Amino acid sequence: MSQDFPAQPSYSAQRERFLVAARAAGARLSEYRHPLSGPFDEALLTDVAVIGDPSASRVLVALSGTHGIEGFYGSNCQASWLQELAGRELPRDVAVVMIHLINPWGTAWMRRVNEDNIDLNRNYLDFAQPAPVNRGYEALHEIYACSQLRGSQRERADALLAERLRAEGWSALMAIVEAGQYAHPDGLFYGGQAASWSNQTLHRIMQQHLDQARTVMCFDLHTGAGDYGHLMLLAIAQAAYPALDDAQAVYGPWLHTLLTGSDNQSDTGVAATTTGYTSQALLNALPDQHLMQFVIECGTYPGEQIHRHLRDDHWLHLHGDPCDRVGRQIKLDLLEQFFPADSDWQALVWLRTRQIWERALAALPQIDQPGSKPGR
Ligand SMILES: [Zn+2]
Repeated sequence: MSQDFPAQPSYSAQRERFLVAARAAGARLSEYRHPLSGPFDEALLTDVAVIGDPSASRVLVALSGTHGIEGFYGSNCQASWLQELAGRELPRDVAVVMIHLINPWGTAWMRRVNEDNIDLNRNYLDFAQPAPVNRGYEALHEIYACSQLRGSQRERADALLAERLRAEGWSALMAIVEAGQYAHPDGLFYGGQAASWSNQTLHRIMQQHLDQARTVMCFDLHTGAGDYGHLMLLAIAQAAYPALDDAQAVYGPWLHTLLTGSDNQSDTGVAATTTGYTSQALLNALPDQHLMQFVIECGTYPGEQIHRHLRDDHWLHLHGDPCDRVGRQIKLDLLEQFFPADSDWQALVWLRTRQIWERALAALPQIDQPGSKPGR
């Protein structure tokens, strides 16, 4: 079944490297088994490594693989930092919690989305409430439901996309598409109709590992937005929140705050119209913690190019076979969009991610939750 699926990089190798580094750093490990398996019939798990005192009140959280295929970058950084932490003592009352590949199915199958075509970063909603309605997407859906990779139907879909692009421009069009939609399970940027396995698992992890924390700095690791090789450090939320001033003080001009809303705009390449972001889930799930939630975005290729490859991969899982030769090429092309093979790109994103984490680690002992006793 798997003979043509790319063997490198692989979910299993990422997991093995992470676990070896975590054990060497003396981490406490927990695992969360996903119900499905990968292209090589391998078991899929999300792993959590806690380094330092598990009852520490100040915690740095590093979360990888919200978008599965972006997890190769995130996992590499987690393992590399674990290797460095192995020889060091953390500041008093500080722990590091690494959540490795929260969407393991997506990483193993080299997809941005999960096993149900759900974009996890559109799925953190209260599904007891009516899902957001994305009317603008309705007229665009036929572009993404196209059943051909090549041929007349695909050409019609390409022409429709090109026509809308000419009329509205890339940013305006993506503000509609990337906002997410909850009506078409076979569409792009689908947010689902219930909490996904990864959503539920992240909530369990937060309950089990962050309940004791008072001050939390959380980094959700992504690639694919922004200029090639440039890192953006973002705070994304629906509204300003209490810890944002502390976050700004730690990072100064490195930090860009992005407030989301249906009429909001952004020139970062990250959609401001989106609903159901991970960062908002953290804010909702940890209301008593002094929480600074960040997104790290590593720029790769131009948005239009990435979008074309996302459409091909979307077609592949709806109408093709990820394990045949056509599938293999689509996977390799998509991988390059979100995890460039260029070793200079990889070195740069690691350098900046490490700087961001080291600054957080140095700052955490100094940040007190308002109203708490100093030195708690
Ligand atoms: Zn992402």
